[in-house]
Amino acid sequence: MTEFLTTTISVLDIDADVIIAGYFSDQQTPYAAAISEGTDDFVGNLMNNGDFDANANEVLTLPYPTGLKANRLVLVGLGESKDYSPLIAMRAAGSAAKTLASKKLDHVAFFFPEENLTDAISGIVVACQGQDILRSEVKINAFEKVSVASENDADVREGHIVGRAINACRNLVNQPPNILYPETLAESAVEIGESAGFDVEVWDEVRLASEECRTLLAVAQGSDRPPRMLTMKYNGADETSPTLGLVGKGVTFDSGGYSLKPSDGMFDMKCDMGGAATVIGAMQAIAELKLPVNVIGYCGLVENLVSGNAFKLGDVIHSRNGKTVEIHNTDAEGRLVLADVLDVAVKNGVDHVVDFATLTGACLVALGLDCAGLFTNDQDLCDQFKSAADEVGEDSWQMPMTPNFGEQIKSNVADIKNMGSGRWGGAITAAKFLEEFVADTPWLHVDIAGPAWSDNAKKWIDGGGQGCFVRTLVKLAKQYGK
Ligand SMILES: [Zn+2]
Repeated sequence: MTEFLTTTISVLDIDADVIIAGYFSDQQTPYAAAISEGTDDFVGNLMNNGDFDANANEVLTLPYPTGLKANRLVLVGLGESKDYSPLIAMRAAGSAAKTLASKKLDHVAFFFPEENLTDAISGIVVACQGQDILRSEVKINAFEKVSVASENDADVREGHIVGRAINACRNLVNQPPNILYPETLAESAVEIGESAGFDVEVWDEVRLASEECRTLLAVAQGSDRPPRMLTMKYNGADETSPTLGLVGKGVTFDSGGYSLKPSDGMFDMKCDMGGAATVIGAMQAIAELKLPVNVIGYCGLVENLVSGNAFKLGDVIHSRNGKTVEIHNTDAEGRLVLADVLDVAVKNGVDHVVDFATLTGACLVALGLDCAGLFTNDQDLCDQFKSAADEVGEDSWQMPMTPNFGEQIKSNVADIKNMGSGRWGGAITAAKFLEEFVADTPWLHVDIAGPAWSDNAKKWIDGGGQGCFVRTLVKLAKQYGK
């Protein structure tokens, strides 16, 4: 784990392997002025000659800079100062760090604006962890030590905690499905809870049966791996404060069941527990930051496979909240898992519930790879979440929930069916299904089928799990109940 320390040593005097320095295109920071002074305005000349424009995420590495003690100076652009945001800070710091992460570096000095420093620190932490966790020799390495030119220990500490929580989420998503399945995912959550400071209760298949979680169990019954359900409690506020419920879909591998996916669509289905990973990562960050808020996270963990005992098309399942569900497609399993978990959450009396799920391909069709769909029965809750997401720079967009879509999940033989009529509006009919299980509790469903995962690496983050919405949830938890 990288050690982050604040320092007051000047950019000219600091003895580090590398200095990372953030540059605005239109404004000089104190450290940029010091670099100009100590180096005959070397960087200024580069900028005047058009060799470095300081556009956001532009990286230029200068070896053995005269006038500096460090061996290398990495310049990274922050764009225009008026546009500087948490997202730009995180991506710029990440872009600089990721260009260096191929080597094992002992000491990196970090000179960035004080504004959005937390996000920049998180950006370094995230950029220096890759998805190559099972390679004999990893190609993306964390730095031993980072000296941050700041006196703001609290921001640096927070950025480190949030970055590590995002990485915990990404790491769970990146684990292969033969290693990470319901029991081992539950064990990981217990370990994270012990170290971060929240309680984790695990329901096994016997307890799930006695708790009547029959739609969750129906999905799980095709696998030899038994299902689990997690209840993770963090009480940072007093008993009279409201409780935020977070619910995560944790399908550790989704073959589609008898509605079998083709190989291309099945290959990356280890990421179908991305909702659970977001909830666990957020719990880690909220507990380590000791935020004054009460949060309970619930995750349903199953594997969706094919066997002689798997659930079938045409089966009718009696869900935990009493509604009967006819199965029209065994690949629409996430909503069945969430149905019972949402019922547990609302019956336990959470005041608001936000669920995260890699739920539908239809959401990808509607909103693309990087934008989450928002579906709600409570506009205030949705607005709070959306504004938190906008502030940190995570894309989301609200979708309609009009009664017409609810008509499409009516069944001829049971109360509802687990698919809409045809494929149109599939992200919405899935949300209408979930709405059947939240009673009157203010609820928001976040479909993260796009942003939970990326096939390709970006300049500031490796491919694989992306750790989406951990930062948004930290922001939301800070404002919750206020
Ligand atoms: Zn599925």
